[in-house]
Amino acid sequence: MMRVGLGYDVHRLTEGRKLILGGVEIPWERGLLGHSDADVLIHAIMDALLGAAALGDIGQHFPDTDPAYEGISSIRLLVLVGELLKEHGFAVGNIDAVIIAQKPKMAPHIPEMRKNIAKALGIGEERISVKATTEERLGFTGREEGIASQSVCLLEEL
Ligand code: MG
Repeated sequence: MMRVGLGYDVHRLTEGRKLILGGVEIPWERGLLGHSDADVLIHAIMDALLGAAALGDIGQHFPDTDPAYEGISSIRLLVLVGELLKEHGFAVGNIDAVIIAQKPKMAPHIPEMRKNIAKALGIGEERISVKATTEERLGFTGREEGIASQSVCLLEEL
């Protein structure tokens, strides 16, 4: 049987933080605020994966009140989600995701993001799609107040 999952996340842009998306440190004047490294793309992907398996969400597995997760690389958390899925008899079919940001340009960094995600999950890059869009200067992403991300995924029950 195949199972579909959906993930969505938002983080606020602020000064004095690194901008990390898909495990890539992107040179930019501001970064995303959060308890972990605030990698909004990876957070959306983890929620899609957990959702497809009906295993809750990242807030449940990695609470932002737990000092263990302070400043942690979200890619490391993705590894843990991948292991959890395996334990429950799931394999990742594919993941599609979109980063919603006015700036900066994401295209040069997408190949490395796909590589990082594939490696964390132990699957081929051809199963991972990452895209980016602006919202035409509309709303909070358009005003560069934050970055959002959405993801869907397909799990195969082993
Ligand atoms: Mg988040």
